[in-house]
Amino acid sequence: MKMENKNFRTWLDAMELSHPLVIAGPCSAESEEQVLEIAHELKNTDATVFRAGVWKPRTRPGSFEGNGAIALPWLKKVKEETGLLTAVEIANAQHAKLALEFDIDVLWIGARTTVNPFAVQEIADAIQGTDKIVLIKNPINPDLALWIGAIERLHKMGVKNLGAIHRGFSSFRKSNYRNIPSWQIPIDLKSKYPTLPIINDPSHICGNRSGIFDVSQTALDLKMDGLMIETHCHPDEAWSDAKQQIKPERLMEIMTELKVRKPRFEREESLSKLNALRKEINAKDEQLLETLSERMEIVENIGKAKKESNVAVLQNARWNEILGNVVEKGETQGLSKIFIERIFKAIHQESIAHQEQIING
Ligand code: PEP
Ligand code: MN
Repeated sequence: MKMENKNFRTWLDAMELSHPLVIAGPCSAESEEQVLEIAHELKNTDATVFRAGVWKPRTRPGSFEGNGAIALPWLKKVKEETGLLTAVEIANAQHAKLALEFDIDVLWIGARTTVNPFAVQEIADAIQGTDKIVLIKNPINPDLALWIGAIERLHKMGVKNLGAIHRGFSSFRKSNYRNIPSWQIPIDLKSKYPTLPIINDPSHICGNRSGIFDVSQTALDLKMDGLMIETHCHPDEAWSDAKQQIKPERLMEIMTELKVRKPRFEREESLSKLNALRKEINAKDEQLLETLSERMEIVENIGKAKKESNVAVLQNARWNEILGNVVEKGETQGLSKIFIERIFKAIHQESIAHQEQIING
């Protein structure tokens, strides 16, 4: 499929009538046979773009680091034989130049590169003015400004068809995800740049096969524009990211089961019901703000009392009592422990800041 008008956004909007953009293919291009076998399977699916890593940034040395430039002609062959567009990861100016030379259609900047402004700038300089699609993965750390910074560097160099890839964020905390999605970060990116296409990468978020459907559905529920899913004909034998790659058959199943949501309510009746409910929400939000502000006034009076008696701001026993109470009550009212803790820790932190201000002037 050709990109109409050479405009990524317009092309995506036209396609989304039937399904979101699907980028599929192996984590790494292992051999010409492997790449072609997968591509021929994928041409019968919803996939429009074939991905394969040629240069692989690995966490530790000694793992397979990609076949390098010799794999680029294999991708050219994929395009000629199947009509799929092709995508590779680029991590420096040399990669960028080679990818353009071999007429790769989509270039993506990996999570480990987005964190490095020098590397991003070097790439931006090398591909200045290109109308190829360039996708910027989120940095490995949950830093929206760094992600935006990378996008801006490419935009400033006249790269026209930009998009972002949400692949989750690494965390020291134990989690069921390889990279926790922290959905609020791509939501904030979308609020700042409403027309910037955002592709979700459930493979690197999950790190396993079983979570891919659910993460993809959440991405579609949040109106992301596409999915990048690692696909391999023999996933268990893959040279990198074996645990998370799925077979083309599974990709087809996932795509038929996923529900594409409409961007907005269409029926007048549903719309007026929604508006009434939104009014109720607005009223509740006002109440919440009033309650929080009244609570803060009490906190400040306690601060004054602590100042008069020269008593420490943090009263651990009292804080534990409050937290225990609210978690218990919250749970009986259908609110999860995790949510109540998050909210009350934020309230406590702000209360401490107000009392500190009072005590220390
Ligand atoms: C990849 O897409 O194979 C890859 C290396 O991803 P990330 O940059 O998200 O780790
Ligand atoms: Mn991978």
